[in-house]
Amino acid sequence: MARILIVEDEARIASFVAKGLRADGHLATVVGDGRAGLDHALSGDFDLVVLDIGLPGMDGFEVLDQLRSQGSSVPVIVLTARDSVTDTVSALENGADDYMPKPFRFAELLARVRLRLRQGGETGPAREDVLRAGGVHLDLRTRRATIGERELDLSAREFALAEIFMLNPGQVLSREQLLDQVWGFDFDPGSNVVDVYVGYLRRKFGAHAIATVRGMGYRFVS
Ligand code: CA
Repeated sequence: MARILIVEDEARIASFVAKGLRADGHLATVVGDGRAGLDHALSGDFDLVVLDIGLPGMDGFEVLDQLRSQGSSVPVIVLTARDSVTDTVSALENGADDYMPKPFRFAELLARVRLRLRQGGETGPAREDVLRAGGVHLDLRTRRATIGERELDLSAREFALAEIFMLNPGQVLSREQLLDQVWGFDFDPGSNVVDVYVGYLRRKFGAHAIATVRGMGYRFVS
């Protein structure tokens, strides 16, 4: 169980995120403006902060800036509009650990929250921003994928699917698990979208990178 601070002024999004995090067994606290967000984040009472950028009082960039300049190293996941990629890159440079473009599926945010909590634990493994498996490098900060020197052009969905596979190398993941993690619960379970995207990744990573386990799902060959 982690203590998670959500700094988000849109009540609908804040409650959707808080509800999901509580269902995953965490304590979630919501504040709706930047100044209160900064005070809470600086209190030392939280293990992770989910921080919106567009906030009343003080925007998310300033909150992040002040948080880091006052010596806090609490992990921060920034929520950002999809059209603000340049701003987001600057947020990462200014001390955010990850970002989540809006709109997002809760499962996508939860995957990032879990990853950051694992990495942020004092006794946990060293912080790892690059996933490596089967010759593929996935940089979770810059969202770049490479094989050797070659950069792969992955869509956001392909990247998310690759991330789930590479967080679980060698494990068989069912279509339902992949659909749930990458596309969200409300996606039609009869859809063949997982198979289609596994096909896309095979084209980019090599046909043998992802094995089909008949009747069970897929396994990333590490
Ligand atoms: Ca906002």
